[in-house]
Amino acid sequence: MQISVVVPAHNEQENLPVLLDQILNAIPTGLHEIIVVDDGSTDDSLALVKAASYSDRRIKYIGFSRNFGHQTALRAGLRAATGDCVITMDADLQHPPRLLPDLVSKWREGYKIVLTIRKDVENLSGFKRLTSSLFYKLMNSVSDVSIDPGSADFRLLDRKVVDVINNLSEHDFFLRGIIPWVGFPATKIDYTPDQRLYGSTKYSLRKMISFAITGVIASSVQPLRLATILALIIASLSALYAMYAMMIFLTYGRVVPGWTSVALVVSVIGALQLFVLGVVGEYVGRILRETRNRPGYVISQSNIDRAGE
Ligand code: UDP
Ligand code: MG
Repeated sequence: MQISVVVPAHNEQENLPVLLDQILNAIPTGLHEIIVVDDGSTDDSLALVKAASYSDRRIKYIGFSRNFGHQTALRAGLRAATGDCVITMDADLQHPPRLLPDLVSKWREGYKIVLTIRKDVENLSGFKRLTSSLFYKLMNSVSDVSIDPGSADFRLLDRKVVDVINNLSEHDFFLRGIIPWVGFPATKIDYTPDQRLYGSTKYSLRKMISFAITGVIASSVQPLRLATILALIIASLSALYAMYAMMIFLTYGRVVPGWTSVALVVSVIGALQLFVLGVVGEYVGRILRETRNRPGYVISQSNIDRAGE
């Protein structure tokens, strides 16, 4: 039973040595490889992992040519991993390596997917807790699959599941939505996340917003229905308004048209139209990206031969 561990890392030079050490100690037997995907770090992250790979051949690295993003780094790692199961975890030690034996033992029981569910605790900032809970509410209200709140990209996937994921050709990669889509028997482990050991979050607000939009749009076409729903609502309201206008006209004869109501109607409908256009635009842009069919990332260096495939 060979275990692969995939770690996406962006400027994590202080955390990586501690993390590698803890993983090696947590899984003394059966560890096949640790693949660190360096997502365009500008610090010494890659150099550190490289140095570690000389002393332990199980340590492998994939260096991106620039920052392509966390989800893309996960994808590259899943493609390169060759173990019978693959564990993905963050580099900042918020996903505690001491949990690894539990993940592996659940897998040995026969589960093909072992998820971890983060318990909301003081270790997370109020902002992170708020945005995370909003995100999962939004996701679950629009998306076709249900995603557990607090599920982060810390999980174990059996080879079968990894093969299914690797065969997906989509570029818009949102792993949290893909996992429930794949199916297979899954189980969950609750855990309390630790505090980020060193440094600060690598998810800027911009990255978080883009992550949320990708999450919704990659897992669902529900937002497109918004136009239809809005149209129905506005049609019913305008029918009422037309009746009201007729009534006024019949009661008072000739009427002076009101500026306020016209201005209101024009601006509300104008805003709604732009909003719906924006939603459609998000999808169209993504269709363009998919049809262009560029590779999702560019690897500049790696000690894995077939990493670029
Ligand atoms: N990460 C990455 N590319 C990025 C941003 C983040 O590979 O563009 C990595 C980061 O190094 C970490 C993981 O993704 O291992 C999660 O990021 P972070 O801990 O900053 O996010 P948070 O826990 O604050 O949501
Ligand atoms: Mg983190």
